[in-house]
Amino acid sequence: MNNIKLPADDNSCGWFEILSPEYQQHMSEPNPISGVEKTDWLVIGGGFVGMSATHRLAELNPEQRIVLVDAQKIGHGTSGRNSGFVIDLPHKSDLVGDDIERKRKVIELNRAAIQYLEDKIMRHGIECQWSHAGKLQGAVSERGVKFLEHFQRLLKELGEPHEMLDQASLRKVVGTQYYQQALYTPGCPLMQPAALIRGLLAHVPENVSVWEETPILNLERRNGTWVAQTANGQVHAKNVILGTNIYTEQFGHMKSRMLPIMTFASMTRPLTDEEFSAYGGTADWGLTPADHAGTTLRMTQDRRLVVRNQYRFVPNYNSDLATREKIHVMHRESLEARYPMLKAVTFEHTWGGVLSLSSNSQAFFGELEPGLFSSCCHNGVGVARGTISGKLLAEMASGGDSKLQQNMQAVSGMPARLPPEPFLGIGVRARMAFAKWQSRSEV
Ligand SMILES: Cc1cc2nc3c(=O)[nH]c(=O)nc-3n(C[C@H](O)[C@H](O)[C@H](O)COP(=O)(O)OP(=O)(O)OC[C@H]3O[C@@H](n4cnc5c(N)ncnc54)[C@H](O)[C@@H]3O)c2cc1C
Repeated sequence: MNNIKLPADDNSCGWFEILSPEYQQHMSEPNPISGVEKTDWLVIGGGFVGMSATHRLAELNPEQRIVLVDAQKIGHGTSGRNSGFVIDLPHKSDLVGDDIERKRKVIELNRAAIQYLEDKIMRHGIECQWSHAGKLQGAVSERGVKFLEHFQRLLKELGEPHEMLDQASLRKVVGTQYYQQALYTPGCPLMQPAALIRGLLAHVPENVSVWEETPILNLERRNGTWVAQTANGQVHAKNVILGTNIYTEQFGHMKSRMLPIMTFASMTRPLTDEEFSAYGGTADWGLTPADHAGTTLRMTQDRRLVVRNQYRFVPNYNSDLATREKIHVMHRESLEARYPMLKAVTFEHTWGGVLSLSSNSQAFFGELEPGLFSSCCHNGVGVARGTISGKLLAEMASGGDSKLQQNMQAVSGMPARLPPEPFLGIGVRARMAFAKWQSRSEV
């Protein structure tokens, strides 16, 4: 594992930057790892998978030691830079298809994740704008309306509550006539992702030691013990949970099976009272696009607008400043098209985040090698799915079994192998350009 690629996310994630100073500070052991640290459990990666695995391992094994490491500050990775929808209903490819039982399992798993997060938020008083606002899915053009009608039919089949809002009723909520209609589903909480993940970090149980900004440079099994190499030391662990999503391939697993795709978001400053009344909608809602190449929008509880769109294929897992500057301009256009009355409201932050997609829409959950567990490739909806898979991985690795765990195994699989470069890059870029062109009316 030479020349391992490490995460290097940009420093401009709005959710992280608006955290209170005490939440931004290190919540880590005071000294870097040096020499050998021995532990029962090592969790690599403090996103939703790694964080919920850490909490659950500590709950199940109070007499054992758990070490959590992340290459960056926890919350600086994708789990702290997403759009904050804790999605309950199956998404995209999980929703189509005839297997109703599979869809019900996905819903049950996602709802178990929501419950797990909510219990922790309530117990520890984590302030992360958690709300039961639900999710709007908005259609701009006829193409989008057709997607919504299809989605509505599928929801009826599942017996899931929903409401179709016309342009006028939607405008009262989102303050714009840009959308023809939207499908509202009530079961998706919204939250501030960096505040949630750092809040969970602040409340890890006492048998957990955390090292932030501590990249693992090599991981191998020697005489039945996992040895993780850091810059100045090693962690020797009986068991390891990889919560490293796309970076899992850097540890020699899932190679050429996950597509590294970056998507981007921009956040405004809070609207003033005057701007808020000119906007004319309400606070605290979230809207995802009817067609996935469209735009996600949030109005936060503190009256900031957040716009997310655009995708890039990123084999090095990051983006440069020039790309983000171009995207900032595109986000500006998306915002002004919806809110011409808010021309004076600037974006304070524009950032990217990398996620992993599989060509067969499968997410992996399970044991990779003896004592090495992973769940990755959640196809862009890893807040709920990542949370529940981290929790269930911890239960499985601790010897537990449950109906929910069996359901997780039933809905998980192996991401399909991807073609080699240069065919992969050419194919993915062409496909993304085509999807963008097809849904140009929805952006
Ligand atoms: C802009 C954007 C919007 C999104 N919106 C949503 C949404 O609204 N709802 C939703 O469900 N999903 C959304 N997603 C996707 C979601 O954020 C991800 O699926 C999810 O956060 C993945 O969580 P994870 O724990 O698997 O991985 P990650 O959050 O990627 O965590 C992996 C961690 O591993 C660490 N790591 C990697 N390599 C090493 C190493 N060598 N040593 C130590 N640590 C290492 C990284 O620093 C990182 O913190 C969005 C993503 C983006 C980018």
